[in-house]
Amino acid sequence: MLAEVATPAASPCPIPDRVQAVLLELQNRLASAAATNIGFPATTGFDYSPLAPFFSSYLLNNLGDPFVDGAYPMHTKALEREVVDTLADLFAAPPDDRWGYVCAGATEGTEYALDLARTLHPDGIVYHSAAAHHSVTNAIRRLDMIAVPVAVDAYGEMNYDDLRGQLNYYRTNAAIVIANIGTAVTEAVDDVDAITSILDDRAVRRRWIHADAALSGIPLALLPRQDRPAGIDFTAGADSVVTSGHKFLGAPMPCAVVLVRATHRAAAARAATYTGSPDATVANSRSGLAALVLWYALRTTDLPTLAHRAEQARLLAGYAHDCLQDIGVASHHHPWAFTVSFPTPPAEVTQKWVLGKHGTRSQLICMPGVTRPQIDAFVADLRAALTPTSTTGGLRGLLQRRPVPITPATETGSVAGPRPARRTRPGSSS
Ligand SMILES: *Cc1c(COP(=O)(O)O)cnc(C)c1O
Repeated sequence: MLAEVATPAASPCPIPDRVQAVLLELQNRLASAAATNIGFPATTGFDYSPLAPFFSSYLLNNLGDPFVDGAYPMHTKALEREVVDTLADLFAAPPDDRWGYVCAGATEGTEYALDLARTLHPDGIVYHSAAAHHSVTNAIRRLDMIAVPVAVDAYGEMNYDDLRGQLNYYRTNAAIVIANIGTAVTEAVDDVDAITSILDDRAVRRRWIHADAALSGIPLALLPRQDRPAGIDFTAGADSVVTSGHKFLGAPMPCAVVLVRATHRAAAARAATYTGSPDATVANSRSGLAALVLWYALRTTDLPTLAHRAEQARLLAGYAHDCLQDIGVASHHHPWAFTVSFPTPPAEVTQKWVLGKHGTRSQLICMPGVTRPQIDAFVADLRAALTPTSTTGGLRGLLQRRPVPITPATETGSVAGPRPARRTRPGSSS
C-alpha cells in the first residue's frame, strides 16, 4: 500500500504534495512508535501486502448474515464462514450447533451475545467479574441490563464463592455469566468449568455463559487441553465466545469473531418475534476486508505455527518477568500469559516506553513481534531510573520484592452479603 502511495503515477489522479507529506509524516510516526510500543496487544509480523489489491478496488461488504450470500456480489462470506468454522473448531463448538460472524471488535461480539442472551432470558441478571474489560460493562449499560459485579482474587480471577453467594440472592432470575478468558490487565482466566458446576449446583437452568476471550482466547485454545489454566470453551459450558482479530492474529484493522450455539440463536429468533427485535448481526454493513484478512492469516499460518508463536511470546514474557524481579521490581506474570504487570515506573520511563496502565500498575505485553532486545532495553532504562543516583524518588512500591495484590482494593469488593443488582446507566436505578 505504501509503495502505491509513493508512486503517484500509478494513481488515477496525482496525489497532492501536501497529502504526500502528511502520509510520509504518518508513516514515520508509526514506524518510530513501534520501537517502544510494548504495552498494547497488537501482534506484528504478518505480511498482509498480498491482499493490497482488495483494499483498493472493491467495496467488500459482508451485509447481514454471513450464511446468506444475498444479492450484493462484492462480499467475502465464503471465507468468513471458513474463519468462523476454524475458530469454532478451536473453541470446540459442537459441529452441528455453531454459528458466528466477523464483527467490528470484541465489544460488538459481546454486545451481540448479551443481546441474544437477554432475548432468551429477559429477566437475566449479568454477573461479570470486577476485572471485566470496560467495554463489557459499557455493553451492559447500552443494553440497559441489570448487572452484579463479582469479586476477584488479587490477580484478577473471579472469586467463585462470591459468584455462588450472589447467585443465591437472585435465584429466581436467569443468570448470564461473563467469564474472562484473559483479563486485559493480567490475563487472569476464569474457569468456565467451575462456573458451569456452580450453576448446576444452584440448579440455575436458565443460563448463558459468555466467554470474553478477546485477548487470550486463541493463544490459550492453541494449548493442549491439559496445559490450559482452566476451562475456556464450549465443552466447558460456554454458550458464546468472542475473540479479537487484531490482537493475536495481528489483523491490520480492528475486528473480532463471535461464536454462539446455533440452537440458542434459533430460539432467540423465535422469542424475538414477540418482542420485534431483528434477528441479525449488530451491524448491517460489515467489513469484507476483515473477514478476508482473518481467512488469509489462518490459511497462511497453520495452527502449529501459531501455537509456536504463542509459546515464544510466553517465554519472552517469563524472561521479562525474571529480569524485572532481578532488578527488584515487584512484577507479576501468569505462566500462560504474554502480560507482565508491575508498579508504574517513573515518568522518565513511561515517557519513552508505551505501556498499558491500570490503577497504580502498568503492563507490558509480549505479543509476537516484541523482541528480547526491546525487553532488555526497557529493563535497562527502568534499572537506570531506579538507581539511587536517580533524581526520581518515591520508588518504595516499585522495589518491594514481596508480591503485591495487583487489583485495586475497590475492585476486589467484599465476598459477604448481597451486592445490589444495578443498572449501570447513570440516573436509572434497579
Ligand atoms: C481488547 C479487549 C476487549 C475489547 O476488544 P475489542 O476487540 O477492542 O473491542 C475486551 N475484553 C478484553 C479482555 C480485551 O483484552
